[in-house]
Amino acid sequence: MATQQRQALQRVCPHCSTIAVTPERRCPWCGRSYTRRILPWVALLALLQTALTIGAVAYLLTTFGDALETELDDQVLIVQRDFEKEIGGLDRRVRRELRRELDARLPAITQAP
Ligand SMILES: [Zn+2]
Repeated sequence: MATQQRQALQRVCPHCSTIAVTPERRCPWCGRSYTRRILPWVALLALLQTALTIGAVAYLLTTFGDALETELDDQVLIVQRDFEKEIGGLDRRVRRELRRELDARLPAITQAP
């Protein structure tokens, strides 16, 4: 009895808020444990928050990726159009130069009598 009283502690039940001097691990009033099970809840909340953060970041990256891809496609189209225009002009200039060079090398056409 003496050892039991020595081990008995004054405890406040986290569930029903009653104070009891007891060596038991459970509340004599509501029967629930004195130890709070916070760790599983904290772990669950941390997991939930992590999942939410990862989801939000994934959504943002996807949105950013789509916008970047659209912008990149537009830029590629502009550059391609400019390049084709440039190549077309160069091609016409080369043909003109070639025709002028060939005309210069050909002998002059003489009128038949
Ligand atoms: Zn209780």
